[in-house]
Parts: sequence; structure tokens; C-alpha cells
Amino acid sequence: MNWDEATAQDFIKKLEEAVKRKRGGGDFPCPLCTNNEWEVPPGFTISTLQSELPNLSLGGPSIPSIPIICKNCGFLAQIALGPLGMFPKGEKAMLGAQSEHAN
Ligand SMILES: [Zn+2]
Repeated sequence: MNWDEATAQDFIKKLEEAVKRKRGGGDFPCPLCTNNEWEVPPGFTISTLQSELPNLSLGGPSIPSIPIICKNCGFLAQIALGPLGMFPKGEKAMLGAQSEHAN
């Protein structure tokens, strides 16, 4: 899965649909400042899960996501791809896969 404008538009559409399913539509306010304008930077983030500290291990379980940033205060949220049905195929070892949350 590569980042491009179609991925960004698909993400925004699916996030809006998910919010609408639970809230019935309307604004999507920032939890800090209540601003309704968000930025989607051009790329994914991957949060790696660590089973022990303080050592850092790479290549283990992770949560692929897309960040959103409040345009007013900079509040940063990461939206996991799995629940939105955007989980990369063949990446079932990663957490947040749609199949793990589907029902
Ligand atoms: Zn804000």
C-alpha cells in the first residue's frame, strides 16, 4: 500500500462514514479546542508495540495508521487503518486488522 491522493481521499471518506455511523453526522470537533478543521499529512504512521522497556525492538507487531492534525491547536490523533477496512492485504501479523475487529 503506497500513499497517494486516492488513498487520502479514501481515508477521509471512510473516517467520515465511521463517525457518521456512530454520531449521525455533523461536525468532528477537536477534543482540545473544538475546531472542526483537520489536516491529513501525506503518509502513514506505524506504531510499533514493545514487549519490554527500555529496549527498542523493530519489526514486531505494529499498528498502521494515518495521523490527523487539528489545524488550530495541533492536536494529533492517529487513526488505525484496520477498523476502517484499509488494512494492507497480506499484513495480518500487524495489529488492528479488520478481521480482528469485524462483527
Ligand atoms: Zn484543536
